[in-house]
Amino acid sequence: MPELPDVEVYRRRWQSKGLHKRVRKVHLDAGAMLEGVSRTEMEKRLSGAEFGSTRRHGKHLFVEIANDGWLHLHFGMTGNLMVYRNEEYEPDHPRMRLDFIRDEHLVFEDLRRFGRLGFVEDVDEFVREAGLGIDPLSPDFDLATFRDRLADRRGAIKSVLMNQKVIAGLGNIYVDEVLFQARLHPESDVRRLKRSTIADLHRAIRDVLHRAIDAGADVDEMPSHYLLASREKDGSCPRCGRKLKRAKVAGRTTYYCPHDQRRKQ
Ligand SMILES: [Zn+2]
Repeated sequence: MPELPDVEVYRRRWQSKGLHKRVRKVHLDAGAMLEGVSRTEMEKRLSGAEFGSTRRHGKHLFVEIANDGWLHLHFGMTGNLMVYRNEEYEPDHPRMRLDFIRDEHLVFEDLRRFGRLGFVEDVDEFVREAGLGIDPLSPDFDLATFRDRLADRRGAIKSVLMNQKVIAGLGNIYVDEVLFQARLHPESDVRRLKRSTIADLHRAIRDVLHRAIDAGADVDEMPSHYLLASREKDGSCPRCGRKLKRAKVAGRTTYYCPHDQRRKQ
């Protein structure tokens, strides 16, 4: 499921290869999940369009259409975005494909169709109205802000970190990674965390996200001390080699090392 690092990789792809080119043709698959806009309207607004810049907030991607608001993409469970030339790539379940000149294409793929496509007029307003929390890669996400965000929360740290209204962009996989790197038990009570633990957690969030983006959000390219590649039945801890524990926390399948992640404060 695409989380912040994946969406940042998609944003960079669009930014480096999909700007300032005119869209020659728009292909919308019958399975495209459109939000607040009809197929006809979507095709009309994108035909002949040129994209000027990109933004991301949490797991949401926004692409500016010259003088005409922003295209909004959310990747749901299985969304993906590729830019390619003929024959370089064969898209799977393409929901929206944009053709540029010289046989270049940009495709939004989505097998399970939980992704969404739509338009927004103002990105900041959208973020406010959706009640999205701070983006953890924003320069405003400092330790004091993080402490503030946790101050009025209760429950397991895992569910707090997954809550998009607290921090936007972390999901099941990367929250597990952050907790593993901070050596914190996923069921730790947020109200009982020590100041030093919150500082470790804050550092882990930034570190994990930066490293995952540097790795192109590709599990095989992640550092060897990361939990990500070991998320499987009978997976072992990359740190101590013991068997990982698999449990339901915050309603989601959670992996952690019961030896290294004992601390709850
Ligand atoms: Zn371990």
